[in-house]
Amino acid sequence: MFRTIKLKLPYDRTIIETGKQFREACQIVLDYGFKEKTFNKNKLNRGTYREVREKIPTLPSALVQTARDQASESLKQTELKKELHRKSLTIRYDQRTFKFYPDSHTISLTTVAGRLVFPVAHSPLIEKYRGEYTNAQLSVDQKHQKIFIMVQVEISGKEAQNKENVRVMGIDRGIKNIAVLSNNQFFNSKHLRQVKGRYQYNKRTLQHAGTRSAHRKLKELSGRERRFVLDTNHVIAKKIVNLPHNVFALEKLESAKMKRKKNGRKFNGKLGSWSPYQLEQFIEYKAEDAGKSVLYVDPKYTSQKCSRCGYINRNNRKGSVFHCLNCNFELHADLNAARNIEILGRSEYFRLLSTSQSLRSDETMLTGMGEDSNKPTPFRVGS
Ligand SMILES: [Zn+2]
Repeated sequence: MFRTIKLKLPYDRTIIETGKQFREACQIVLDYGFKEKTFNKNKLNRGTYREVREKIPTLPSALVQTARDQASESLKQTELKKELHRKSLTIRYDQRTFKFYPDSHTISLTTVAGRLVFPVAHSPLIEKYRGEYTNAQLSVDQKHQKIFIMVQVEISGKEAQNKENVRVMGIDRGIKNIAVLSNNQFFNSKHLRQVKGRYQYNKRTLQHAGTRSAHRKLKELSGRERRFVLDTNHVIAKKIVNLPHNVFALEKLESAKMKRKKNGRKFNGKLGSWSPYQLEQFIEYKAEDAGKSVLYVDPKYTSQKCSRCGYINRNNRKGSVFHCLNCNFELHADLNAARNIEILGRSEYFRLLSTSQSLRSDETMLTGMGEDSNKPTPFRVGS
């Protein structure tokens, strides 16, 4: 699993000068690549090495190399279709050119004045994400006179990469059952519905009264109801994340909304403000704290497909009973869906893992395992 720590560095002249020279080296390679129509690293090296060395003799050769790699990737991204001009002052660091010391809150960086050690401002993420510091991207904000470095950390990667150690849990979310887990555990919404029903009854009574004090009470009640829902979701999320599984697979949210519609308005009223989205957020951040992963799978067919033989048919499902018309397998419909989500989650997990490994060998950044938009975005190559 990869995480990024953003650290503030002192606004230092040597770093800024290193950034300027790094940018200049990048630009020479970009111009050459565009002119010669190539993003091949060897060709770029042969064509620009001399010029870079002569024009920028103080830029250390390891940085010349990363500047070239970065330029090559930018050229590849634009398919050599347009001329590129680097404006931003950024420097890419790898394990040869930086080392982070979390205990002393210092970082050593290769600069135009040699290897130097700088203090970094404290961040709670330093303690939170301990692991192997694989690469980093430094950026200089001249307008606000600030320098930041984004350090990428790989957390207990080896354990996660061993197939035997990966335990995936599929989670089906719904209305009757808030969550059904692929290990046969059910979290039903009975209690939630009862309590919410009571709140709704009391609220309606107060609404009819219409007095000022009734209005105040109504507000109070709404707050209490919201906290009750929040608390319920916290408890469920905690129970789920504490299970001995390290990957939690959920359906993409759109599906949960769809299901809500399909299951009829009867429940919608009673569940009111209960949201599967909130539960999902709690699972996500509790999992992150515990060093576990959450990922999302395509909800298509998860309720029509047989989790034993893979046969898909709309008529496999009748209400809460799943009965496979092909192999006669019978199971609670939500549980069958949870098992399908687990199967999908497992293959998605290993797909993401192999992508992240091939990306890393290419020195590209990757953050997080999921594809959720709330996750920090990977560093972009180019200006
Ligand atoms: Zn079947």
